[in-house]
Amino acid sequence: MRRPILAANWKMQKTIAEARAFAAGFIPLVKDATDVDAVLAPPFTALAALGEALEGSSVGLAAQNVNPEAKGAFTGEIAPGMLVELGCRYGIVGHSERRTLYGETSEFVARKAAALFEAGITPIVCVGESLEEREAGRTSDVVGAQVRESLASVPAGRASEVVLAYEPIWAIGTGKTATPEMAQAVHADIRRILTELFGADAEAIRIQYGGSVKPDNVAELMSQPDIDGALVGGASLEPDSFSAIVHLGA
Ligand code: PEP
Repeated sequence: MRRPILAANWKMQKTIAEARAFAAGFIPLVKDATDVDAVLAPPFTALAALGEALEGSSVGLAAQNVNPEAKGAFTGEIAPGMLVELGCRYGIVGHSERRTLYGETSEFVARKAAALFEAGITPIVCVGESLEEREAGRTSDVVGAQVRESLASVPAGRASEVVLAYEPIWAIGTGKTATPEMAQAVHADIRRILTELFGADAEAIRIQYGGSVKPDNVAELMSQPDIDGALVGGASLEPDSFSAIVHLGA
């Protein structure tokens, strides 16, 4: 039985004060949600304050990105050890916005995931096809290649700890959600590939769906056998909405 994981990706939104206010509203709303992992990924600037605000709660802290190097001349970048110091338990890597806007390759994503593992942080590895790729019937090939390449450096015996997020690009921030059946078909395909790569450990790997998840569609998505959670953008910005998603996703 895989424990559901519901993660909020705030992207470039929320100041430190806004992140603190969110935590104050959100923590009491999810304190009885003990059967799920709830995770918040604020911008880097709010990690320290949000980490303090989450202390003593079961809500996990995540970074939205990381550099695979431990230190050095990488202007503007953040190393895994710096995230450990801030109390991050998770790190999102390979989000489609980073792949498309900043040219990140799956090979680079694999290095990030490996660096997070080494630092003791759980990677949330995002994959997903564009509308053009879906319409050309290439979803399975594109997502399959991203999964294989992005997980190429997972340390031996640690595969079950990885979290994957399947996020069709055409569904992110558009209000267009994949139907539960469409999402399940890709999740099942991903699990088949994970089984090829990692054998029986694949059964333990949690695969989140992402793309316009809201309180009114999360339960149906989560009822699918291979959907183990959600990565949520827009609907994670208000405590009421994201706490509803956490409860309905349990
Ligand atoms: C995301 O950014 O990962 C995402 C899924 O966004 P939204 O929920 O707004 O579609």
